[in-house]
Amino acid sequence: MTHYQAQDAAHHIHPFTDTAHLNQKGARVITHAEGVYIYDSKGNRILDGMAGLWCVGVGYGREAIVQAVSAQMRELPYYNTFFQTSHPPVIELAARLTSLAPEQMNHVFFTGSGSDANDTILRMVRHFWAAQGQPERQVIISRKNAYHGSTVAGASLGGFSVVHEQGGLPIPGIVHINQPYWYGDGGDLDPNEFGLQRARELESKILELGADKVAAFIGEPIQGAGGVVIPPLTYWPEIERICRKYDILLITDEVITGFGRTGEWFGADYFGIKPDLMTIAKGLTAGYIPMGGVLVSDRVFDVIANHGEFYHGYTYSGHPVACAAALATLNILESENLPQRVKSDIGPYLQERWLKLAEHPLVGEARMLGLVGGIELTPNKTKRAPFKVEKGTVGLICREHSFNNGLVMRHVGDTMIISPPLVISHSEVDELIEKATLTLDQTYAQAKDQGFFS
Ligand SMILES: *Cc1c(COP(=O)(O)O)cnc(C)c1O
Repeated sequence: MTHYQAQDAAHHIHPFTDTAHLNQKGARVITHAEGVYIYDSKGNRILDGMAGLWCVGVGYGREAIVQAVSAQMRELPYYNTFFQTSHPPVIELAARLTSLAPEQMNHVFFTGSGSDANDTILRMVRHFWAAQGQPERQVIISRKNAYHGSTVAGASLGGFSVVHEQGGLPIPGIVHINQPYWYGDGGDLDPNEFGLQRARELESKILELGADKVAAFIGEPIQGAGGVVIPPLTYWPEIERICRKYDILLITDEVITGFGRTGEWFGADYFGIKPDLMTIAKGLTAGYIPMGGVLVSDRVFDVIANHGEFYHGYTYSGHPVACAAALATLNILESENLPQRVKSDIGPYLQERWLKLAEHPLVGEARMLGLVGGIELTPNKTKRAPFKVEKGTVGLICREHSFNNGLVMRHVGDTMIISPPLVISHSEVDELIEKATLTLDQTYAQAKDQGFFS
């Protein structure tokens, strides 16, 4: 281990990590980054196929963000917005964001992260109903395998059973229905039919609980951390129809799908739905400074704003430096037309090549929407079979090969996922595909070798 690695192992607890296991080998230390590349302390250059953790849409090394942040730090490094005070960057950002958001959304509440934003949403929707004399409307329906963050409310809304087992989650009033995961659960069904079936589980759940008990439904337009689950096109419109039928608030968690990832500004725009609330974070500041928020529709705002004080807020709500980073990020997204670039240029270019990976003998399905995609590893394409070893083993082997080949791909079980910066060039896409192909070849050979095939 290097000095860095030893110190890291001695004192730093990593998120979502088996600490003892990591500390035997030491963390990879990333020292700098530029464009779509990260560099480690051993001098390796690695194409960042995950844009950090889904956030660095505009790429690394954007001087305009650095300038905006440092200028703001000189001008006003901090002030809160609690005591009937405000400041220029938060005012400008609120106006700017709501002009980009769907037309029904004209208000925003700022938070420090995506997790915080979902905590805010949980309280806001329950308060919304209570303020209208329906305090029994408490339940929020979410989905298995969803990711909504790591705070108590965020992790409860999330649908990972391993997460729920630690710390007594979920908190009361949150239930989970099945996800629209066609490759895993759709069998022989036509994907659009399957999408409708999965959406209608929402209706069954509402009827089971009683519509007068249900406050809201929350979902990621595309499930990210759950393995890039792209729903059939029938799914979201049907979810929206059911929410409207029973007068239940519709929340889209746009932390990954916001800010151009799908080729539209928000995932809701892509799927043609009009949510009542949207969670934002990650791409909002390109990860340069932490920030999240909740975009609030007129309907929800009118109730929240007219029922006295909402006893909720964070010290760093609307932090001026984070607002400056967000404004500079939005400037880049707009001036470089990045959502449009994803929709009509680099998106189709990567999709065409990525979907061809399905021809590889190790791959059961390749899927991609905008610039977010997944591939399912399997020893038997036609049966979509699992490997003869604990789930995730082959995925982890694949991730290791990928890193060593100079490409960040993440694994979720035996699904490999990517979400590269929106600024990735055509030749960088070629490099990504070349490295992914080599990685699949190596993983295939090793998995065969180790007897993981049937
Ligand atoms: C990352 C993520 C979150 C949590 O955001 P943090 O900033 O890590 O708290 C919430 N929802 C989705 C969909 C995410 O991908």
